[in-house]
Amino acid sequence: MKHMKKMLCLALGLTMSLTLLSACSGGGTASPSPSASAPSPSASAPAPTGAVLPTIEAGKLIMSTNAAFPPYEMVTDAGGFEGIDVEIATKIAEKLGLELEILDIDFTPAVNAPAEGKSDMCMAGLTVNDERKVNLDFSTTYATGIQVVIVPEGSEITTIEDLDGKLIGTQAGTTGYNYCSASPEDGGYGEDAVIAYDNGAIAVQALLAGKVDCVVIDNMPAQEYVKANTGLKILDTEFAVEDYAIAVKKGNTELLTAIDGALDELIADGIVQSVVDKYITAD
Ligand code: GLN
Repeated sequence: MKHMKKMLCLALGLTMSLTLLSACSGGGTASPSPSASAPSPSASAPAPTGAVLPTIEAGKLIMSTNAAFPPYEMVTDAGGFEGIDVEIATKIAEKLGLELEILDIDFTPAVNAPAEGKSDMCMAGLTVNDERKVNLDFSTTYATGIQVVIVPEGSEITTIEDLDGKLIGTQAGTTGYNYCSASPEDGGYGEDAVIAYDNGAIAVQALLAGKVDCVVIDNMPAQEYVKANTGLKILDTEFAVEDYAIAVKKGNTELLTAIDGALDELIADGIVQSVVDKYITAD
């Protein structure tokens, strides 16, 4: 993979910190509640209504995801779904006059679902990359993802330069897996250096059990996992910086345009930021 990015770019790092700071300043609670804001006044060209959009099931917007990726998508105690992606998707569906339905499956099938006609869109803290663009089209970016490294406290891994020769845990099908399993010529560590687990939580359990030396995963879930388990920390050096977006089946321009219209309004109105704030607990 030529896209291996060992990011130590100061300017970019600074931007990220500022983004995170402004995201934290809202000091939101973790309890999702419907937004109090009124729907924004419809722009000159009103968004198409659900009835005319080419969705799999009339009136529904089916979102494929893997709801084990906090704080973007998680299962609630009551068996429902919550998280940043879930709330943004709910608001997009509302704007489009559609009912959101969540298809919670493993990550790789969730990514493949739009192209296979099993979902209208995938929203899963999903990183935009060229490989995925073969079968999918992506919306406007709504968040930044940073691949980070989780290690046990006291680990001899102190920077990403120390990953050589170590056993790395990742989540199957993710960009973190792709970067790490790439050949050394392409900036990775080779397949033998990487174990792919079904989801991030299982990868972190493997780390706690000493089965791997570190876990490479997106920053926000990493923070949740470190908070939930004692004895873990995140390295200061970032592994890669990425964009998150919603994916539809390649060529489904009508649906993508409608999603983008709704998402752009939600970003412009500050709703996306307020949803993010709500799920980032300052501590
Ligand atoms: N952002 C990563 C990717 O798109 C991981 C996403 C996830 O695990 N839900 O590959």
